[in-house]
Amino acid sequence: MSPTKPTVQANGTTYRWPLRPVVVVCIDGGDPRYLQRFLADGKLPNFRRFVSQGFAGVADGSMPSFTCPNNMSLITGTPTARHGISGNFYLDTATWQPVVMTGPELLRGDTIIARFAAAGAKVVSITAKDKLRKQLAKGLDVSQGHVSFSTEFVEKCTLAENGIENVLPWLGMDKPGMYSMELSLFVLEAGLKLLKERRPDLLFLSLTDWVQHKWSPDEADALRFYERLDDVFGRLAAEDITLALTADHGMSDKSNAAGEPNVIWLQDILDAKFGKDETIVICPITDAFVAHHGALGGFVRVWSRGKVTARQIIDHISGIDGIELALDKATACRMFDMPPDREADVAVVSREDVCIGASAKNHDLAGLKGHRLRTHGGVSEAKVPFILSRPLNDAYKVKAAGAPLKSYQIFDYAINGTA
Ligand SMILES: [Zn+2]
Repeated sequence: MSPTKPTVQANGTTYRWPLRPVVVVCIDGGDPRYLQRFLADGKLPNFRRFVSQGFAGVADGSMPSFTCPNNMSLITGTPTARHGISGNFYLDTATWQPVVMTGPELLRGDTIIARFAAAGAKVVSITAKDKLRKQLAKGLDVSQGHVSFSTEFVEKCTLAENGIENVLPWLGMDKPGMYSMELSLFVLEAGLKLLKERRPDLLFLSLTDWVQHKWSPDEADALRFYERLDDVFGRLAAEDITLALTADHGMSDKSNAAGEPNVIWLQDILDAKFGKDETIVICPITDAFVAHHGALGGFVRVWSRGKVTARQIIDHISGIDGIELALDKATACRMFDMPPDREADVAVVSREDVCIGASAKNHDLAGLKGHRLRTHGGVSEAKVPFILSRPLNDAYKVKAAGAPLKSYQIFDYAINGTA
């Protein structure tokens, strides 16, 4: 390390200056079962090389196992309790209105890339869906040569807002559809081209889980997606970088033998017991693009309007077949490292093959026609791959052997932990 290159502090972790560009990829919905299946079948030569010559493990993701909390865990290097983004929504009990949690002002602490940028590094973040972009760009002054954009709004990029413009002609690609595997592949191709042309120090590339919601590891289209990922990961790794691959969450099949989703309509159950408007169920998986999962996930939050106690709610629902955990706020926050000020009175987790919705009448399942429901949010989907293209150094071999891997350590391992 050159003596002029500083170390960088972010949220209590010290990072050395990267020896070479570090590229962290969040394979949205990249359940370890996909890689286990495809690697066992002898596919994915580049993944195979990383596993044999670099480092590979299965890490604990952050809870709830949703996209926003876990992307923020990766980019800040902290659990949900520290960065505060515990879902896509939380309920403001002053107004009883759900609040979207995608604003940078709600993210606590700094991103690792913003801290490096402030120390003179060049950084890039690219995300498939725009909902993550503003938080990923928190504290980043793109006029200083940094880049931050989403495929979703790629045609609207400006130098002032994104640090790059005219991305489509520059990359020589058409804008992919919102429901396509190309939406994710576009992120990686753009990252590769920026790496070749500008050689930034840190890149965070975040994909979307449309493929994993749609296809199980047994289906040919899932393999086709992973083969295309493998191809671009091979080309990225050839650029003399450290490539780090992880996921925000896994993905489970939550349908019955007939192909119908196994759903617990929790708001309907609570209304029947305690009366309408006494409790509010929030499904924090919800976003503007719900066609592929009908806003059903494996984790929901229940707030009481004041009359019903958490204990009464827990007693009423914890015996329901398919409910794995019904926890009061303090227990949920302790078990899952979540922020108490954004937690409900009761947090509810479903079993691997079951999902939870609010009220049947408010969920549109038309988008699921012809497909089994695959979704996430619970403990069953909180395991993620943790793969580095380079081997660990001795200190991090000891660290990895001594404690469970956490996915929020991916930048730490990629920057500080490789040989
Ligand atoms: Zn996701």
